[in-house]
Amino acid sequence: MNYQYDYLIVGAGPFGAVFAHEAYKRGKSVLVIDRRNHVAGNLYCESKDGINIHVYGAHIFHTSLKHVWDYVNQFAEFNHYVNSPVANYKGEMYNLPFNMNTFSKMWNIRTPKEAEAIITEQRKAITGNPKNLEEQAISLVGTDIYEKLIKGYTEKQWGRKCTELPAFIIKRLPVRYTYDNNYFNDRYQGIPEGGYTKMIERMLEGIEVRLGVDFLVHRDEYQSIAKKIIYTGPIDEYFGYSEGSLEYRGLHFETECLEEENHQGVAVVNYTEGNIPYTRIIEHKHFEFGTQPVTYVTKEYPRDWTVGEEAYYPVNDVKNLDLYAKYVELAKQEDNVIFGGRLGEYKYYDMDKVIASSLELVKRVFII
Ligand code: UDP
Repeated sequence: MNYQYDYLIVGAGPFGAVFAHEAYKRGKSVLVIDRRNHVAGNLYCESKDGINIHVYGAHIFHTSLKHVWDYVNQFAEFNHYVNSPVANYKGEMYNLPFNMNTFSKMWNIRTPKEAEAIITEQRKAITGNPKNLEEQAISLVGTDIYEKLIKGYTEKQWGRKCTELPAFIIKRLPVRYTYDNNYFNDRYQGIPEGGYTKMIERMLEGIEVRLGVDFLVHRDEYQSIAKKIIYTGPIDEYFGYSEGSLEYRGLHFETECLEEENHQGVAVVNYTEGNIPYTRIIEHKHFEFGTQPVTYVTKEYPRDWTVGEEAYYPVNDVKNLDLYAKYVELAKQEDNVIFGGRLGEYKYYDMDKVIASSLELVKRVFII
């Protein structure tokens, strides 16, 4: 068979862009296609009035993986942004993640010992190993914080009761008995100067990219264009949903420009009460310390998802993981296709883990 390219990469998000870069660097011929009309996947930013708008939701790069941090720093300089979101519960403002500032405001206390005493008392509500997110949350931070800062937010975000959600979701959030508002525990953190789109464009420099091209629509043309395909779209869609469709949580964003310099004083405010329909308001300029006379804010509404819409969060429950396992079996039979990334692997991936996983694939493919 005469192939035009060594690699066809379907999807110009971080997984695809890293692989494309590494293959091209090794002298391979590479074609990248994406059905959207831009590169960078969900990291894509649009610049308005000098402010980078995170079009598919806020992305804050954070990692403890030194090799990943060194890797991304080849393509962008990162600023010193540290994510310190604030929660608004019925007008009361609390620092996140759950730390001494939060506890002090909640209970008018001062020391870790006082906070521990209250949480120890409240967690008595849970005996045995936490079986779901509610039990996990209460055993971590007690009932007050659970009721005010976790329950409403989580149930909106996932569209399910906390008693029906897996415990691991809440374990993403640190709980600290120090006055430290840094949302992440990771060693490295920042936003690429000039935006994520530019960073991905740098990875793709010199590589042929075709935008607005849907692999599944033009399957005949693209299936045999390259020796190997790296597929970063939804794995179930690739197989025509033959086993059923994997579930995702959807998001809807409403962005507006406000004629003021500083609207909320921080990049992220979470609205943690259940009856406000959005989970957070993002004020984009604060990611890059913007001083423009106007500002852009985005309300983020979680919503049910149906096939064909943008898929955001994989619902990693037992039912969906079992279904995914069936697709993995099908994938094994596709000799020349490798599935990767959040949609290809159906994983609630942070950016750094996506890049790490793409670099792992590079190692395997190029035997380094
Ligand atoms: N969470 C919460 N209250 C908050 C923020 C987060 O209860 O104010 C919980 C919620 O269950 C959420 C999880 O923590 O699903 C993970 O939040 P994270 O901010 O990591 O989610 P992402 O940024 O990926 O949307």
